[in-house]
Amino acid sequence: MTSPYPHLLSPITLGSGPAALTLRNRVVMGSMHTGLEDAPWHVAKLAAYAAERARGGVGLIITGGYAPTKRGWLKPFASEMTTRMQAMRHRQVTDAVHEEGGAIALQVLHAGRYGYHPLIHSASARKSPITPFKPSAMSAAQVDRTATAFARSVALAVKGGYDAVEVMGSEGYLINQFLAERTNDRSDAWGGSAEKRMRFPVEVVRRTRDLVGDDLPIVYRISLLDLVEGGQSWDEVLTLAQLLTEAGVSVLNTGIGWHEARIPTIITQVPRAAWRSVTARLKAEVSVPVCASNRINSPELAESILADGDADLVSMARPLLADPEFVVKAAAGRADEINTCIACNQACLDHTFANRTASCLVNPRACRETTLVLAPTRVRRSVAVVGAGPAGLATAVSAAERGLAVTLFEASPALGGQFRLAMAVPGKEDFAETLRYYTRRLEVLDVDVRLSSRATPDDLAGFDEVVVATGVEPRLPALPGADDPRVVSYADVLSGRVVPGRRVAVIGAGGIGVDVSHWLVHDPAAPGPDEQAGVDEWMAHWGVGDPSLHPGGLTERKPREPFREVTLLQRKTSVIGKDLGKTSGWAHRAVLKQSGVTQVAGATYERIEARADAVVLHVTVDGEPRGLVVDHVVLCAGQESVRSLFDDLRHAEAHPGLHLVGGADVAAELDAKRAIEQGTRVAAAL
Ligand code: NAP
Ligand code: SF4
Repeated sequence: MTSPYPHLLSPITLGSGPAALTLRNRVVMGSMHTGLEDAPWHVAKLAAYAAERARGGVGLIITGGYAPTKRGWLKPFASEMTTRMQAMRHRQVTDAVHEEGGAIALQVLHAGRYGYHPLIHSASARKSPITPFKPSAMSAAQVDRTATAFARSVALAVKGGYDAVEVMGSEGYLINQFLAERTNDRSDAWGGSAEKRMRFPVEVVRRTRDLVGDDLPIVYRISLLDLVEGGQSWDEVLTLAQLLTEAGVSVLNTGIGWHEARIPTIITQVPRAAWRSVTARLKAEVSVPVCASNRINSPELAESILADGDADLVSMARPLLADPEFVVKAAAGRADEINTCIACNQACLDHTFANRTASCLVNPRACRETTLVLAPTRVRRSVAVVGAGPAGLATAVSAAERGLAVTLFEASPALGGQFRLAMAVPGKEDFAETLRYYTRRLEVLDVDVRLSSRATPDDLAGFDEVVVATGVEPRLPALPGADDPRVVSYADVLSGRVVPGRRVAVIGAGGIGVDVSHWLVHDPAAPGPDEQAGVDEWMAHWGVGDPSLHPGGLTERKPREPFREVTLLQRKTSVIGKDLGKTSGWAHRAVLKQSGVTQVAGATYERIEARADAVVLHVTVDGEPRGLVVDHVVLCAGQESVRSLFDDLRHAEAHPGLHLVGGADVAAELDAKRAIEQGTRVAAAL
């Protein structure tokens, strides 16, 4: 049989000599700090997490970052690789990966001024905008010792059984802090000219090579676009790549944007594979293999990057968190069964940056491989799941995977619930992939799916277990005049039932109010994110320019012409969108601003007045009455649980196995992460 992805699934050899490493394919699971790295008592969990991905066929796993010194910690007592005892503990992880036929590299990362603790030091004493701690400037002796510490960590990694290492030289960590004028104002041998700023990473690699010999593959993650003021120029990036290659780097992995950059690089609204052209530019200039990364989430896309010669390997971190079987499914021609990463960051990076263990919104088993187990059932009991939103879909698929006989009832003619609405939002197109995944898994697992079927207690009488996942309905605030047909819910708009006019007021500025505002200002005729014109427009909007003309790739932003005039209101006086995701909320807020959405906090809604050609939303703001003359008012005021079926079942003859999940259970602050996790947990316990 011919391979469905001949480039992606072909082997590649990294390094040379007896320790050269032949990977079974070109898929690299990029480094992702899960939090499990930080405590010795999590080693068994880390081993299970890595083994599951190796079993799923990935070519090379790169661990989360391990600091070469205590001052390089990401946070107090975070992961480090500084002693032989620590190295020996890693054997449990590396052995587990090797038993599954995989290969694994340790990433050495010094956080520099990004560390979240008072011991931090950096090239200069310049505080980062994203941590509260100010670093001290490293003395020349400290710089020298730290370069050697990197090499020692690599040598320890070899003792720990690693097949390769990655030196973290991107995302704004210590190595970048030496490389960029922005953060390096030294005038000694480690700063001043561009060449002197490059000395630190080159020394790290040179000393590592000297210590571990010629053969071990050394991957270096190079920052192609810093996306910050005072970042490296393109010429500097190429010179650095050349110097690193001469010093002994075997592979150049690519990174885009420092963590403090105010341009999103990996979240949903970033077009897929947006950065491949800059990777291709590097590849054209260097002699070692180059690995593409960032916002690549399907085998088709990865294959096209390799087939076009833009890179030699493809790094996918979050997609492997979302589906550990990504590679085996692709290889078996079952790509339509891949649980695709939707780039939401909600359970991975948002957790990491909040000091919580990472997981995945679409795969709550990620990093919980030993505790959230879908064990095969011994008795094939019958399960009815009512409602096919995220909670119901997760329950149905997880229960069927365990071998239970599942029937899924859905009152509407389509699967998806609130997810079907979310995927209509510009920049959230990938949410459709989750529905594709569930739809296909239901077929493969032979679940009895009954669409347009509103389950009654009689329908459910014969089942051993009933899981009610009837979801939510939009909250309709009791506002005088809200019965006007031009006052509509977010569901009306996102489902296409109502097309609002050019002037719109949005009541409620939670996640959905912000999403609906994006939808309203977006021109439906604009090129999509999968078209080159759409990528170009996105780059111009965010001010990403040609790095050979604009250092760091940063240029002036081009505001978007809003398709509608939108006013977004909330009652709270806090900043609008304050509670959105930690790693994505700022970008959503920026889009609102750049798209001319008028934001009003501290509003009191008084009434809605109907006029022949408009409605007027009367509000009071700061004690002043205001009347917003609009074509439509869209209500995004949260949700209420839909629970009548559950109440009927509970009050009728007690059903022996009755469960309530998702928004039907708790509507307040419901999100898909909680819904999918709860559904999966209930299915695991049935
Ligand atoms: P939400 O986040 O609870 O926001 C509802 C908003 O409506 C609140 O901000 C509230 O603000 C307002 N509100 C509540 N009751 C009201 C009333 N009686 N009259 C007028 N306004 C009222 O809910 P949501 O926006 O519907 O989102 C649902 C869930 O989906 C949330 O958990 C959200 O995080 C998630 N989600 C997340 C994203 C994301 O990007 N991460 C996107 C979409 C949805 P005031 O009380 O200040 O007016
Ligand atoms: Fe991808 Fe979201 Fe899962 Fe993170 S939480 S891996 S971004 S789907």
